[in-house]
Order: sequence, then C-alpha cells, then structure tokens
Amino acid sequence: MGHKPRVLIVEDNARNRKLFRLIVDSMGCESLLANDGEEGLRQLEGALPDLILMDIQLPGIDGLTLLQQLREQPRTRTVPVVAVTSFAMPGDRERLLGAGFTDYLSKPIDTEELQAVIARLLPPGHGRDA
Ligand code: MN
Repeated sequence: MGHKPRVLIVEDNARNRKLFRLIVDSMGCESLLANDGEEGLRQLEGALPDLILMDIQLPGIDGLTLLQQLREQPRTRTVPVVAVTSFAMPGDRERLLGAGFTDYLSKPIDTEELQAVIARLLPPGHGRDA
C-alpha cells in the first residue's frame, strides 16, 4: 500500500483539535495540525494532504477565505476540504458547498459522522476497515 493518508486539521480550538486528531489517528491516518489559516497555508507548502478538515471561524484568515485561496491555486484546487462550523444556520450546507467545500460538518462534532466523512473522501483502500 502507499503512504498513510494525511489529514490536515485547521482548527483554533485546542479541544476540538485534539478530538479531530484522535479520530483521524484512530483511522490509520497521519494528522497534521494547524492553529489558524496562516499555519495551514504553511503546512500546505509541504507534501499535500489527502484531506483537509477546516474550521470556518478562525482568527486571522477565516475558513471561507482560506478555501477560496486553495481553490484558486491549481496545486490545491482538488484537495477535498470539509468545512466545520459551530453556527448551524439554515442554508449553511448550500452556501458552503457552493463556495467549493467538499462536505460540511457542524459542531459539536459527532464522531461517527466525522469518521464516515473521512472514510468517504480518502483515496480508495484507505480509511475504511484499514
Ligand atoms: Mn474556531
């Protein structure tokens, strides 16, 4: 098999970051952590992750702006990015998917829902029963 799938977690809340990391690691993936958008962009200068979990409410560059930057660059255009938001509002899903996010999760994070999204978006042969 190839490399362990790499999942970049961009989240400013330490508790949520830890929860994301535990779930990602438990699925046999390697987690990369970023506290904010700037750090996320720095992480992306290295090897590209297979998936990005991105909090929307971030200090500095917010998740929506960061996503737009990733979608404008050929190198990062096709990386799956899952939006995570704490303000569940009517129309959120349509708005976020319309902006270019691959999928959407609302906080508080449901472990099984997150696992299902990760398994669905990782390269075939990874994440599911792995
Ligand atoms: Mn946040």
